[in-house]
Amino acid sequence: MARESLPEVPIQEIHLVGEGLSIWTKQTKMYKNMASQISNIYHTEKAKSTICTKFELTSHQFSTIDWDALERATSLLSPMHNIYLSKHVTGFLPIGKNMTRRGAWKEPFCPRCHHPVETATHLLQCPSTSARKIVRSSSSKFQTWLESVDTEPNLMTFIIEITSSYIHDIKVQPQPYHPAPIQHQLRMRWSHFIHGRIHTTFKSYMTHHYTSIASRRSSASWVAVLIQKIWSLYHLPQWENRNKYVHNLDRVTESTRERINLQTSLIHTYTSENINNLLAADKHLLEKPLAHLKSLPNALIRAWLVEHKTAVKERDKIFSAENARSSAILHSFLTQPSPPSQSLPPHVTNSTSIITINPSSLPMPKFNTTSQHIHQQHHNQRQSQRTSRPKRKFLPPPTPTTKYKNQRVHQNIKTLLTPYIPPRHPL
Ligand SMILES: [Zn+2]
Repeated sequence: MARESLPEVPIQEIHLVGEGLSIWTKQTKMYKNMASQISNIYHTEKAKSTICTKFELTSHQFSTIDWDALERATSLLSPMHNIYLSKHVTGFLPIGKNMTRRGAWKEPFCPRCHHPVETATHLLQCPSTSARKIVRSSSSKFQTWLESVDTEPNLMTFIIEITSSYIHDIKVQPQPYHPAPIQHQLRMRWSHFIHGRIHTTFKSYMTHHYTSIASRRSSASWVAVLIQKIWSLYHLPQWENRNKYVHNLDRVTESTRERINLQTSLIHTYTSENINNLLAADKHLLEKPLAHLKSLPNALIRAWLVEHKTAVKERDKIFSAENARSSAILHSFLTQPSPPSQSLPPHVTNSTSIITINPSSLPMPKFNTTSQHIHQQHHNQRQSQRTSRPKRKFLPPPTPTTKYKNQRVHQNIKTLLTPYIPPRHPL
């Protein structure tokens, strides 16, 4: 810490008592471990400045909040709820607005009512059906508790009424008929009451009331339990209910993501495969249209992908075996020792490992059977008749009879087509 940033600790009095020196600051006597005390004073001042800025409180309003009651209320909550409370008070609650600012969410909308921005205030004011149901239940329980601890009736009425107005986002201005604590709290804003920052006049008002009814109840306990009840009846049920919606939303998002991934794999596999490349037994995989396959449930798409993968593996296995067999045959043919050149027939020449055949030197086929011989004789006769027949140079002109027949056929076709020929329009 830089020396110039150290706070100015106000030392109010220095008492020189017989046995030594006593130092007082903020109405507190500083005795042993002064460094720790000065640090506490410094951090308290810093926290006060931060809270005043964050919650829009003046220094005077800060000093009128019953911080002791708030501290006592936190001890009444479970450790888990205290974690939620500390996050809520410090503004680090994983609410939509904060989640979006941290980059964890894309949109800060409320998971229950889809309000554009979910804030800590909206958590209590959410108009969704489930949130309103919790509010009704909480208000009933809150009233029951206020009655059970002998709360001053007029004060109790306005506490319930104004809390309900706050939850329904209705502004209430302090009125002369309001009890003094209500007026003070409304001037400070009722949101502080909802968040456990209670004006000190509530305690003094209840002290006076308990005295007037001769009750042995403690007003300090009343304020502390009041804060604890607000937290446990209004905040925590809403927070837990809201989280159920968030987790459901996560599940839906996860399911959608899985669907998109499966369909992408299906499209890629389907379009990159040719049906002719599959074995006959597996061609049915690509016989159905892609649109039909895309509409199938996730489980069936997953099964299709597995079946296709198996089919491709099977095909590749068979093709590999065939290729290996062909290669082996070719290799054995090419590597076998060549016969001596004298044994080759005259139309075959052997040059290194390449064998060539000369068609012109092939021997003429010999007809060994009688039927083949007769067939050859007939073929020769037909050939000689063709060559002996004189070639016709011109076609004869059509006779009048032939011409007349052609005209009649043409006329008949025209008659048949007349109904289908569109009439000619003059240009
Ligand atoms: Zn909402």
